[in-house]
Amino acid sequence: MTVSDWTAMPPPSDGAPSARRFTGKACLVTGAASGIGRAVALRLAAEGGKVIAADMDLAGAEETVALAGAGAAGKAARVDVRDAASVEALKGVVEKTFGRLDVLVNNAGIEILGTIDETAPEVWDEIMAVNLRGPYLVSRILLRLLLKAADESGGAAIVHNASLMGLVSSPGLAAYCASKAGVVSLTRSMGLDYAARNLRVNCVCPGIIHTPMLERRFAMQPDRDTAYRTTSERPPVKYIGRPEDVAAAIAYLASPEARFVTGSALTIDGGVGAA
Ligand code: NAD
Repeated sequence: MTVSDWTAMPPPSDGAPSARRFTGKACLVTGAASGIGRAVALRLAAEGGKVIAADMDLAGAEETVALAGAGAAGKAARVDVRDAASVEALKGVVEKTFGRLDVLVNNAGIEILGTIDETAPEVWDEIMAVNLRGPYLVSRILLRLLLKAADESGGAAIVHNASLMGLVSSPGLAAYCASKAGVVSLTRSMGLDYAARNLRVNCVCPGIIHTPMLERRFAMQPDRDTAYRTTSERPPVKYIGRPEDVAAAIAYLASPEARFVTGSALTIDGGVGAA
């Protein structure tokens, strides 16, 4: 397949998924207004989940809920994952709406490029606040509702969205890579700490995925189409992944099919990390 064939490829979950692994399950996805988070919210809803789509961008989260359709029992909520008071308010929404939480997907994240000399301390702090403090804070504040679901139904799950950049590195991306390595480490610690209480904790490590975040990076290049083409040629599979590729993996990790999987980091990268 050539690079130009890529746009003709159907997304992996084109049409309704055949499984309904989240019927009646209470799910929360952060960063659900855009990109991977939106695809995850739609996937969980398509499999019967009742999904709260949370984001700083409330209008975008509302759009996600509208895309899921009227039958999906979805709700949009505003949250800033850096801020404990904002996450407490989100917990109030989850408590009022569901009274428990079966699935938490910590997906919200930002990418800012730079070597350490190009990264001012405030920028470093901002990346850590969203990418690492965020998953810690949201998990900590929602923990009681997750453990309640685990007690009542024999299992609950957290999936963090880390990155391949949490396992390997790339030049000019120091703070982002450090934050995502922290998420991989946090996944292992949380996986161990809550395994015996039926709360599984895993993370995905996506490679290059076609989302607004990636388009912002292309926009910084002199020629967007050349950047897109060069990037498409980088993975061994010779195309860029789609948000739906990551959503399918997150849905698996969040589902009872992954009952023996905890503390793990799953790469979804078209083979990049294998080299
Ligand atoms: P995106 O920019 O399209 O979406 C990110 C979403 O997070 C946005 O809706 C944004 O409003 C939200 N967000 C940002 N800061 C927030 C905050 N403080 N509180 C609440 N919401 C906030 O990006 P994406 O590509 O879909 O990325 C989603 C996740 O996947 C990120 O954690 C990112 O690091 C990770 N990831 C992306 C790629 C990629 O190639 N796109 C690769 C590996 C990992």
